[in-house]
Amino acid sequence: MMRAWFSGVIGGVMVILLAGCGTIRSTEPPVVGKRAQMHMGTLVSITTVAPTKAIAQASMDAGFHEVKRLEQLLSTWIQTSDVSQVNAAAGREPVAVGPETLEVVLRSLEMAGLTEGGFNIAIGPAVEAWSVVDDQRIPSHAELQSLKPLIDWSAIRVDRTAHTIFLPVRGMRIDIGGIGKGYAADRAADAMKKAGAIGGVIALSGDIKAFGNLPGMKGFSVGIRHPRQDGALVATIDLQDEAISTAGDYERYFERAGIRYHHILDPVLLEPARKCQSVTVIATEGTVADGLDTGIFVLGPERGMALVERLPDVEAVIIDDRGRMTVSSGLRSRLRYP
Ligand code: ADP
Ligand code: MG
Repeated sequence: MMRAWFSGVIGGVMVILLAGCGTIRSTEPPVVGKRAQMHMGTLVSITTVAPTKAIAQASMDAGFHEVKRLEQLLSTWIQTSDVSQVNAAAGREPVAVGPETLEVVLRSLEMAGLTEGGFNIAIGPAVEAWSVVDDQRIPSHAELQSLKPLIDWSAIRVDRTAHTIFLPVRGMRIDIGGIGKGYAADRAADAMKKAGAIGGVIALSGDIKAFGNLPGMKGFSVGIRHPRQDGALVATIDLQDEAISTAGDYERYFERAGIRYHHILDPVLLEPARKCQSVTVIATEGTVADGLDTGIFVLGPERGMALVERLPDVEAVIIDDRGRMTVSSGLRSRLRYP
């Protein structure tokens, strides 16, 4: 069975690629390439726009290579990964990690601060207790209470000089599932640019990063999925040098007695967060979009939207628990409705 590391195969947002049919004045039109592979427990699809066929191929190779490299560092399903080793040494000793792992954890702590702890990478023990994808169990109240002292992101110790991470309490576990795909999309975009791509999209399920544009088009068109109508979109938007990321309760969940139990947990109650059906965030960086979508899903529509309006270069579409949609002020004129 495919091990789910991050999240759903079906993303909350999807790229709609329209063939570039505009007139291109240069003698050699750019080459558009597209390829998809499974990584990080999800479908990763890369589109590239490059000056030549060889560069198109090389840039897609570079993007996938970067995603695979990060998976080896960050996956909790890979025992030799930095994150697995940090978790295994909890309560014992600091672990030396690579610069990317250090960066993901530092950015995660920053997102935790912004979202009042709604985003919490110390959530690992609760994610395991629920095991929404594999075991689909409902942990008892007592069991969840016993985990509470472990879900403390402020206890995570990062030493930037020694490049170490230390989880001071035995049983603590970090889980970067809520931010890792957005981070990987950022890094893959950089790798593609370095390999010569002039435009591209990296989509790890619903975590998408775009740069440049398709020949003859304005950026890349992306659809935001309806959280309760399979295959339907609530809106589409053109992305240009931006990332978009959706956290939803409709991808990884199970139902028991008419109640939906999904994979985004409220770090206080240690139960599935109940205030939203989906949160889509647009930001310059995928790391920010992905970290914030999860954190805002927990915070809920009012506090979540207030945060988005305070932050520069961050926009959002929030669909609350009753299916009501709110759109941030900077996004209203950019969305197209079906
Ligand atoms: P997706 O992975 O579908 O893009 P998210 O970005 O919201 O959706 O990530 C959900 C994942 O984040 C969960 O599967 C779990 O690993 C982790 N997670 C769950 N609750 C939280 C939380 N409150 N803070 C940080 N990470 C979380
Ligand atoms: Mg997220």
